[in-house]
Amino acid sequence: MYAEVIVDVAHSDVDKIFDYACDGNICAGMRVAVPFGNGVTTGFVMRVKEKTDVPPAKLKRVLRAEEEFPALTEESLLLAEKIAARYRVPMALTLRLFLPAEMRTGKVSSRRRTFCRLAADLPPIPPRAKQQLALVAFLEENGEADSALLREKFGGALKALEERGAILSEKRRVFRDPYTGSAGEAPSRTLTDGQLLAVQKVHATDKTVSLLHGVTGSGKTEVYLSLIADALKEGKTAIFLVPEISLTPQMLFQLRARFKSKAAILHSGLTAGERFDEWVRLREGEARIAIGARSAIFAPVENVGVIVIDEEHDGSYSSESSPRYNTFDIARLRADYNGCKLVLGSATPSVETYRRAKAGEFELIELPERINARPMPEVHIVDMRREVRRGNPSAFSSLLRERLQKCLGEGNQAILFLNRRGYSQTVICRDCGYVAKCENCDVSLTYHSEEDCLKCHYCGARYKMLSACPQCGGKHIGYVGTGTQRVVTELKKLLPAARILRMDMDTTGGKEGHFRILKEFAEHRADILVGTQMVAKGHDFPQVTLVGILDADMSLHFPDYRSGERTFQLVTQVAGRSGRGGEAGEVVLQTYDPENYILRFAASYDYAGFYAHEIAMREAMSFPPFAKIVRVMVTGDREEETLGALREVYKKLQMLYAAHSEDFLFFNRMHAPIKRIRNKYRYQVLMRLAGGSKVLQEIYAACSASDYKNVLVYVEENPGNLS
Ligand code: ADP
Ligand code: ZN
Repeated sequence: MYAEVIVDVAHSDVDKIFDYACDGNICAGMRVAVPFGNGVTTGFVMRVKEKTDVPPAKLKRVLRAEEEFPALTEESLLLAEKIAARYRVPMALTLRLFLPAEMRTGKVSSRRRTFCRLAADLPPIPPRAKQQLALVAFLEENGEADSALLREKFGGALKALEERGAILSEKRRVFRDPYTGSAGEAPSRTLTDGQLLAVQKVHATDKTVSLLHGVTGSGKTEVYLSLIADALKEGKTAIFLVPEISLTPQMLFQLRARFKSKAAILHSGLTAGERFDEWVRLREGEARIAIGARSAIFAPVENVGVIVIDEEHDGSYSSESSPRYNTFDIARLRADYNGCKLVLGSATPSVETYRRAKAGEFELIELPERINARPMPEVHIVDMRREVRRGNPSAFSSLLRERLQKCLGEGNQAILFLNRRGYSQTVICRDCGYVAKCENCDVSLTYHSEEDCLKCHYCGARYKMLSACPQCGGKHIGYVGTGTQRVVTELKKLLPAARILRMDMDTTGGKEGHFRILKEFAEHRADILVGTQMVAKGHDFPQVTLVGILDADMSLHFPDYRSGERTFQLVTQVAGRSGRGGEAGEVVLQTYDPENYILRFAASYDYAGFYAHEIAMREAMSFPPFAKIVRVMVTGDREEETLGALREVYKKLQMLYAAHSEDFLFFNRMHAPIKRIRNKYRYQVLMRLAGGSKVLQEIYAACSASDYKNVLVYVEENPGNLS
């Protein structure tokens, strides 16, 4: 027998099949150790066959299988090939997507424990050996127990009994359970008519993809759970993707309560061992629902019955490291392979997805009302220019102050949203205009009041706060722009009795970071939650009746074709946290641009209006989805080398441009908007391709064909972030 092996080395030079001789116990999908070059390396068996063209003298043998079972399923092997071809990356890199990182590094393996029970013929035990008798009684009652537990409870008695031949022991694998403590019972719910209809439509349509467009609070989660339960009933498995599970502990509890150990939850808060075990439980079919962020789309489940992508518009579904895949594309491949349904859900679908649904490619399912016909919260748009003119330069308009007081006075809770952490956006010398900047990155620094230092939000570097201007020596250092820390400081002055929580990247470190804050707020041990976009995600706090959006313009004027769409999504999502319980909610939206159409549509929950306006603009400007923005990034430590690589890439791309100029709506090479991040120089070739263009594959080829020394070259499609 011969095995076709891809070695686990992510380099284009060795990105090909190598044949090895092997025994009959080796099968496709296994990880194996093989001699390679002068050493031994791990490889993946793609296929096993009867014949090889390699002459016997040159043929080497597979040394051993790394696991007894094939780590990669047949489907994984097939998908890996497609992904490698699509994004022009080495196979090894795409195969790795399907394995837990812990497995490859070999640092984690299954945990084994010794279990003890009593021998059938118990030898006599002297009455004075009290501990030994107690242990025997314990096992008589419990049947079996972990040896570690017995040693802890009864000390040396276990060893003594073993020597008497009274104990039978056996080593067995156990799974590390990341969720100690019970999840409680799932509330039994009957689906509303709308929810039931949505479930039926997904089943009935002959389209693979359904878009569930339901307003915030319309009960989308129940629809997903119902579809997942249906898949399990048919003996199938399910994949459920969410943007970031640690941000939605309520969802996690619901899933655990409903599906118990059938659900494997893959999230960043788990230890390496726990993650590995969850993966093994899925691979072996012991768990049948894979729940997690983007990477859970590679979960090793077979016979998939449904795939759900919640909050499908979320930017986290695009990978930002190689291969830069789009989660939807992979989900689509898996749905086709398994012949199952793919369900996308959102209150604010991306313009591209909605267009495909309207065009009939996806089944469009609408849930236009909140559960129990609760009203959508009323949105008040506040013109902040008027506030300034009236002599109120603070972050809180008079309306927001008044509503905050009222909300707290009635014993309710409020959420304040501001998409900037730290104290101020930057510090500036009021005498000469000097702005403090990072030494490693081409960006200004943010003042953090709690640590009294300046931080770079791109590389994390810290600097001492300025006591005087390094340029002119002036002492008038000013803070520009408000961050979450400053909001909390001002809020404490405004409402001294209020209990305030802050949730942003600075307060959510550690394993339980988000969880602790969200729990405290959910238990009403705080009145106001101040935070960045983390507070906008899916939370369901019934006591929140007021949401304040402090600066709606921040994302609006971002130089990016998607800034309008993002702002609409963000405003709708944050606003959607208000009034989810028995009492009606409201929203105060502060802006310097109160006539802005995006904000107007968001304030009236008019997705259709927003979409019609946005899609017309995109078409007129030839922006996605009518064209594709492609960026080739070239980054390196040394400017000369980086520029050298840029020139080379550019030359190849220019040839493509010359040959297919009708496909290019835009073609230019330049500095990236941020010229340096983490001491790496950044250049880009920016292109816009006409819809339906086939040039993309050739662009990938041009960028992957040569290896640039010390310089990284990569392709991004419709990048989420153009900085
Ligand atoms: P969405 O994800 O659409 O914003 P959720 O799934 O969070 O909405 O549901 C909103 C609220 O309605 C939640 O508190 C949920 O528990 C409740 N809910 C959902 N479906 C039902 C139902 N069929 N009966 C009663 N309450 C429901
Ligand atoms: Zn920096």
